[in-house]
Amino acid sequence: MTTLRDLPSIESLLQNETASDLIERFGRPLVLDSLRQTLDDARARFKLNPEVGLPSIELILAESESTLSAWTAPTLLPVINATGVILHTNLGRAPLSGAAIRAMDAVSRGYSNLEFDLETGKRGSRLIHAESLLQKLTGAESALVVNNNASAVLLILSALASKKRVIIARSQLVEIGGGFRVPDVMKQSGAKLVEVGTTNKIHISDYEAALAESAGIVMRAHRSNFKLVGFTEEPELKDIVQVAHQHNSIVIDDLGSGALYDTVKYGLAHEPTVQESMQAGADIICFSGDKLLGGPQAGIIIGKKELIDKIKKHPLARAVRADKTCLAGLSATLTHYLKDEAEREIPIVKMMSLKLDQLKGRAEAWKNELGYGLALSNVEVEIESGLSTVGGGSLPDESMPTFLLSLNVKSPDKFLKTLRKNNPPIIARTENDKILLDPRTVLPEQEGALLDGLKNLLKA
Ligand SMILES: *Cc1c(COP(=O)(O)O)cnc(C)c1O
Repeated sequence: MTTLRDLPSIESLLQNETASDLIERFGRPLVLDSLRQTLDDARARFKLNPEVGLPSIELILAESESTLSAWTAPTLLPVINATGVILHTNLGRAPLSGAAIRAMDAVSRGYSNLEFDLETGKRGSRLIHAESLLQKLTGAESALVVNNNASAVLLILSALASKKRVIIARSQLVEIGGGFRVPDVMKQSGAKLVEVGTTNKIHISDYEAALAESAGIVMRAHRSNFKLVGFTEEPELKDIVQVAHQHNSIVIDDLGSGALYDTVKYGLAHEPTVQESMQAGADIICFSGDKLLGGPQAGIIIGKKELIDKIKKHPLARAVRADKTCLAGLSATLTHYLKDEAEREIPIVKMMSLKLDQLKGRAEAWKNELGYGLALSNVEVEIESGLSTVGGGSLPDESMPTFLLSLNVKSPDKFLKTLRKNNPPIIARTENDKILLDPRTVLPEQEGALLDGLKNLLKA
């Protein structure tokens, strides 16, 4: 009769050639862990029901191997974004330009002059790296790069507005997502929130009255992810700045996305640009590095030198500072703007600039490629017109016409799941029971993998 004693020992398992191979691939400590776990599981199964018997050495090693693969597989993977949402927050926002990737790779591989002055051979500052580019591009006196825009807002308010009144329009007390709510951030920074205006309307006189009552800082937060339509009104930034300056107050402008170009060029609504905010005279402006800018995750703060210096000295500045790869990637991205080559080099700008006939051409090429060899499959492949969006909490409700590859499969939700299991995972969407794939957001270098994946899945 089989008893638990018949289960092989770890020692005997380690004699096996497959075990040596596993040790080579995964390291001895992890292999021992996985063997122990596999044996424990086998024991537990046997105790529950002796009829299942005991696994063979081969089976134990095979089970250990899949455990080891699962333990060591990365959880963060590249995917193919066929959703047509250019800045998909869940899919990592902006893909980077080749130059940005090369710059990040170069500083990660070895040492860099991150905080080292090559001229004097003495300690330097990491803060200088993107600063002159930002000054050139925006005309700002000074600049600072931090971890992301949420930390930029927290840092600015902590450094400049702690224990002070911060005057903000009621319609701008927004929630960005992921629990980032402007009123909560203000509370966290120690600022005293002063709401002015109503949900739909704010007049310049509302700011004036609040400033006349007592000193305070004026903040404007861009409504990045929703639209206020109908009976609404909001003064222009330059008028807010004028009133604030008359009262010896400063204006902080949280742009959120902060484009350096006019999105109207791509048939979209106008997104406030960094340059406009500068021209309007805002004292401190902040925006994300990985929204419409198309760079790595970062928060960019620009503005008056005296204020930026104060922000740089705040203890939180160190806690939220940008790392060397971010500074390298951001500098490369900003250089594209300086050289007026953003449309050619920055993937998200390129995606926005794609013309309808280019999109149609790509969708048709996909269809031809799939149709070939799919004769046996009962899936209908068509091209239809549809819409892509910018996403990433910018330009709400705005869309761009596109052409989609549509697959008429039996159970679309099941097929979406199968697409997600592909290597690399393919993320698509369904509409009217059809699978839709948008060429706009599929990177050219991923097209081969997309078509191979689709062909295999449709054949199966
Ligand atoms: C997106 C956004 C933020 C947060 O920026 P992250 O870079 O995501 O941290 C803050 N404020 C506004 C207005 C935004 O749109």
